[in-house]
Amino acid sequence: MSNLKPAKNIIRIINRRNMSKHYDVLVIGGGSGGVAFSRRAASYGAKTLLVEANTLGGTCVGVGCVPKKVMWNAADLAKKIQHAHGYGLYKDLPLDKEHLTFDWPYFKEKRDAYVHRLFGIYERNLTKEGVDFVYGFAKIIKDNTVEVSLKDQEGKTEIYTADKILIATGGKPSHPENIEGYEHGTDSDGFFRLEEQPKNVVVVGAGYIAVELAGVFKSLGSNVSLAIRNDTVLRNFDHIIQDTITEEYIREGINVLKQHNVSKVELESDGKSKKITFANGEVLNNVDCLIWAIGRKSHLGLGLETIGVKLNDKNQIIVDEYQNTNVDGVYSLGDVVGNVELTPVAIATGRKLANRLFGPEIYKNQKQDYENVPSAIFSHPEAGSIGLSEEQAAEKYGKDTLKIYTSSFKGMYYAMLEEEQKEPTKYKLICQGENEKVVGLHMVGDFSAEILQGFGVAVKMGATKADFDSCVAIHPTSAEEIVTLR
Ligand code: FAD
Ligand code: NDP
Repeated sequence: MSNLKPAKNIIRIINRRNMSKHYDVLVIGGGSGGVAFSRRAASYGAKTLLVEANTLGGTCVGVGCVPKKVMWNAADLAKKIQHAHGYGLYKDLPLDKEHLTFDWPYFKEKRDAYVHRLFGIYERNLTKEGVDFVYGFAKIIKDNTVEVSLKDQEGKTEIYTADKILIATGGKPSHPENIEGYEHGTDSDGFFRLEEQPKNVVVVGAGYIAVELAGVFKSLGSNVSLAIRNDTVLRNFDHIIQDTITEEYIREGINVLKQHNVSKVELESDGKSKKITFANGEVLNNVDCLIWAIGRKSHLGLGLETIGVKLNDKNQIIVDEYQNTNVDGVYSLGDVVGNVELTPVAIATGRKLANRLFGPEIYKNQKQDYENVPSAIFSHPEAGSIGLSEEQAAEKYGKDTLKIYTSSFKGMYYAMLEEEQKEPTKYKLICQGENEKVVGLHMVGDFSAEILQGFGVAVKMGATKADFDSCVAIHPTSAEEIVTLR
């Protein structure tokens, strides 16, 4: 959890002055999903209370997407600066990797200040929309009744009742509690608390967070080892992404330790540095920072058992396609239910549920569609994906019904740079059936996230290869390759 404090207590006090004890709907968790739901519900006139244990905006704003992207921007700039000589810029300045400096404490303070400003904006938006909110940890104590242990007010509680309850408590990092000494490592929350840049870093994991944090550390000048259990990172993605990012990280100098499982973590004699032992007997010494990025688990402990809300075997809340739990009047969405753990998914689901519960008749059957959700990995280079991987498409439709188009090149930007500075661009379009419907699009390369947002609309609309081809290319760009694939 973040140690960041809400920006403006004053608003909190004003907002709480006339609060009642009974609501149409009470929302537990003021993250992406909870805030989006509350604002939409209140906009329809529903009397809405939002309870947040920590800071408004949740994971995304405090310890996720936002500060991560700010760090990625710094890392990206660190790389781009090294390209300046290739373009004849700042030839008199030493801009190579060896001379890179990064003022971590300065940047952390600035980044945190930005995040604090966002907390304030979230509070003001809720107030404007007429949502009451309270800071504290919520626990369901019986049907329709929630007890809130007020934040920073030891032992003080308040009780609220509501016709409906939404659980949007998100998730938190998993730790490998079976590994001796695991507590000497930190997680992505801890990454955002780091006051100094660690020199020697080990990141364990192969998903979005491990890849993004390893890339940021490396670009900003740390020595990075990335310990993965298998042979590639991002194994949930198409091979074009898995293989390219793994190879590229190795090429960039990240020590990718394939088939490596940590078996023990010990503190060295200075009481700070860590010694990491792997199951194969290898050892890494003098590790300043060990980060577990091995997945996340639902944020629970809120008394679900008292009203009998059911969980699945991953301890995620079970909901139907309309976000109903098994208990009448109790709903859930976002990371706490698993499914697709992304901020825009939590937001869209929250808005749709509020539309359905409190909006006009036309929304009575509205629900979130979890198919064809685009997402990007802010690695170096970026990657993005929508739809099925080649393997998934073959399994679903049969290999013979697919036509795969690929393109692999170095963008024009790199033509002015040294060979070792050139990063790859790779695109893969997976088409299915006689009319070649696009069922998957996967990319690695600069601006993948921005490019994919637009192509995502086309894929979501059910575009075919012919539709892609019918769009005239924008030249000279990298993305033009996607509408000229042969
Ligand atoms: P959260 O945002 O986690 O909000 C849940 C809130 O509930 C929290 O504020 C918590 O304090 C509160 N809470 C929990 N229990 C209680 C309780 N009992 N009482 C009161 N309050 C409670 N997604 C993207 O789309 N793009 C990205 O680039 C991206 N980057 C990420 C980077 C990192 C490092 C991480 C960790 C995540 C990232 N994500 C990203 C995922 C994204 O942050 C989540 O999918 C999103 O925040 C989920 O929203 P949510 O509303 O379900 O939960
Ligand atoms: P992920 O589920 O993406 O990845 C975790 C990976 O860690 C697993 O896939 C697994 O890979 C590996 N792993 C699991 N257990 C262990 C273990 N015991 N030892 C070593 N490795 C292990 O989780 P993240 O924590 O990276 O991210 C959580 C979610 O947050 C993501 O799924 C995503 O939805 C969201 N997110 C989105 C971002 C974005 O949109 N850019 C950025 C960050 C997060 P393997 O099986 O290959 O070993």
